[in-house]
Amino acid sequence: MYLAKAFAAQRRGEPLTAWQVERRDLRPHDVLIEIDYCGVCHSDLHQARGEWGRQLFPMVPGHEIVGRVVRTGEAVSRRHSGDRVGVGCFVDSCRCCPSCRGGLEQYCSQGMTATYNSVERDGVTRTHGGYATAIVVDEAYTLAIPEALAPDAAAPLLCAGITMYSPLRHWGAGPGMRVAILGLGGLGHVGVKIARALGAEVTVLSHSPRKEQDAIRLGAHAFHSSTDFASELHLRGAFDLVLNTVSAGVDLDALAGLLRCNGTLVMLGISPEPHSIRGFSLIGQRRSLAGSTIGGIAETQDMLDFCASHGIACDIERISMQDINEAYERMLRGDVRYRFVIDMASLRV
Ligand code: NAP
Ligand code: ZN
Ligand code: ZN
Repeated sequence: MYLAKAFAAQRRGEPLTAWQVERRDLRPHDVLIEIDYCGVCHSDLHQARGEWGRQLFPMVPGHEIVGRVVRTGEAVSRRHSGDRVGVGCFVDSCRCCPSCRGGLEQYCSQGMTATYNSVERDGVTRTHGGYATAIVVDEAYTLAIPEALAPDAAAPLLCAGITMYSPLRHWGAGPGMRVAILGLGGLGHVGVKIARALGAEVTVLSHSPRKEQDAIRLGAHAFHSSTDFASELHLRGAFDLVLNTVSAGVDLDALAGLLRCNGTLVMLGISPEPHSIRGFSLIGQRRSLAGSTIGGIAETQDMLDFCASHGIACDIERISMQDINEAYERMLRGDVRYRFVIDMASLRV
């Protein structure tokens, strides 16, 4: 067993405080990773505050992990001491269902083992995430971080990046496709960069008029700000694909109305509140309402390589581990450009 320093929420909604987390002894295929950086995803906040129903406490959040391999199990073949690696939102899956065999481990029919707030395949051992100095993970669930990517700015790609890349690829974003991204936060800002690099025509739909300059700088062709997209008549039927990254409730009827014939509205944000939609909002133009979550290991590696070759990284603000509670409050106020990344050196001192 290996003890790592960490920050945890001891109970639902409580501020995160210093804690020690036990990491397992290395199994043959495990690597021990010293964590250098961990991004702060809105999903961390949702879960630490118990917004998604019953959750497991104490909880060490964090699933945008970049670090270095410092020790390897005896059967490890693809990772070596010193390698820069990443860990995203899951650390295991059943490995034999059609989804796992097809590289879609995030849709494992038995449920993926999430990096934190989850239990290992043994059904008992709790998982804890990347707000920590170290983590032990099976090498098959690690990613190689390309040399061309700065490790701190790469960290949020492990969740935010793949969450945007996977639906953009699945629904064929590219030249001639009109893509709208709703919400310019951690997910949205990297989504703009990736959609632009794929050649799509990119529009940002935001509730914050002050983000216009940033949206254009990030690569959007157009920006519209509104608190009520139902009243924006000039946007009706304007898009093939709308990616909703908002962390709160949205008006699905209004958003569906932005789609042209055969268009798709993809839910990525996970509002604690349920949504409703009128059948008429979909049937008239054969519109689809869909959802998507992160991506499989192979696709995540593909995304990292794509970002490296297109010079894409996240716009980040580095913080100390001790600043995490204030960072959550700032994230709720929309005061982050565009992702907090914890410098884990702050936890080692
Ligand atoms: P974030 O950085 O806080 O960004 C969310 C954005 O949504 C904000 O910047 C804001 O953009 C908009 N927004 C927030 N609150 C709003 C409100 N009350 N009304 C209207 N707009 C609001 O969060 P994130 O890390 O990008 O995550 C976004 C959501 O995606 C979260 O719910 C998270 O749990 C979820 N998520 C899902 C997946 C998945 O696999 N599907 C993966 C990661 C995260 P504007 O100011 O531009 O409107
Ligand atoms: Zn996340
Ligand atoms: Zn499976």
